[in-house]
Amino acid sequence: MKTALPTSTDAVHAGERVDRPDHTLAPSIALTATYTFADSDDLERFMRGEDPDPGRLDYGRYGNPTVREVEARIAALDGTEDALLFPSGMAALTTTILALVKAGDDVVLFRDTYRRTRQFVVKMLSRLGVSHTLLEPGDLDGLAAAIGPKTRLVITEMPTNPYLRCVDVERLAEICKKTRAKTLVDATFATPINAMFSAMGIDLVVHSATKYLGGHNDVLGGSVSGPSSLLSVVHEARDVLGGVSDPHAAMLIGRGMKTLSLRVARQNQTALEVARALEAHPAVERVYYPMLESHPDHAIAKKHLAGGGGVVSFVVRGGKDGARRVVDACKLARIAPSLGGVETLIEQPAIMSYSELGPEELVAVGIAPGLVRLAVGIEETEDVVGDLLQAMDAAAGA
Ligand SMILES: *Cc1c(COP(=O)(O)O)cnc(C)c1O
Repeated sequence: MKTALPTSTDAVHAGERVDRPDHTLAPSIALTATYTFADSDDLERFMRGEDPDPGRLDYGRYGNPTVREVEARIAALDGTEDALLFPSGMAALTTTILALVKAGDDVVLFRDTYRRTRQFVVKMLSRLGVSHTLLEPGDLDGLAAAIGPKTRLVITEMPTNPYLRCVDVERLAEICKKTRAKTLVDATFATPINAMFSAMGIDLVVHSATKYLGGHNDVLGGSVSGPSSLLSVVHEARDVLGGVSDPHAAMLIGRGMKTLSLRVARQNQTALEVARALEAHPAVERVYYPMLESHPDHAIAKKHLAGGGGVVSFVVRGGKDGARRVVDACKLARIAPSLGGVETLIEQPAIMSYSELGPEELVAVGIAPGLVRLAVGIEETEDVVGDLLQAMDAAAGA
């Protein structure tokens, strides 16, 4: 098993084919819905699983060479036997979870799990007779107490949104190892560059490829990485449910991944500098970034992450209106959800991801009204820091 974090060389070359048709360097987009057979003998040999080409395919929903190459690169970066690509992060999560659970099973997840994942488990899976256990962020004693023979899946994220909470993934894996529970880490915020969760004992690693892997805010995608024994079950579910990546989208994700290591290195650096600058600003109440000594999970972050990633959350004095003034005063950072792309984005969770909640409910789910979430891009570090500082000053003067 691979345990070293991937390098830039891995990001450019891992999983690449060297036997391309027409000797092209770059992959072509294999636009085909189906595949042909020379004659009935050829078809029957394939159906018996005796084709000399183990990668041969018969229909587009079951696989595509452009997609397959991207899957090989993701598996290499995550240090796993295999990976599967999906048309979105949610398609990756829902297909994977559905593939593994049956009525009577229990799924454990943490309260700060991505809103739509939580909605899928809490609202949709319960209709199918799958129960769930919700734990407070990072509560591993709670996990050890809650886990039982019914527990089939333990889902966590690292770092989480928006407070960048980190969990001791090795201990989590250790707790689950003695049981039938499989572990799944949504590693979207960590990226394969900052953490190799498979080497920490985690069974399945999921990414929203929409974020860092694609990296250009121009394509949706998702992936799951893990051992072939589990992924063959997920593959079968994907064949049935039909959530397959379009080869155009796959090509964009594969191309984006070639610069993943460079981009994440810049984002790690810029986010840390922004976090430090904000922490020193009098109009900021609190900054959340895992690589700051003040973060509640700093010790775990130092142990498990090579970098803090590109997201910095902070609470501005002056509540909802104070945060609104800061966001509106930014000139470089654009207002949008999402993260991990080349452009710096900013949002106020109270009026974006959690806009349906009233003031008391916001407090109940732990979203401060003055919270701002910044997702740094790859612009010059000093430009991103400068933009935030001028926005803070402008908002304070307004
Ligand atoms: C964005 C995101 C998702 C969902 O991914 P999509 O590609 O938008 O479907 C899942 N988990 C996390 C942590 C995310 O940030």
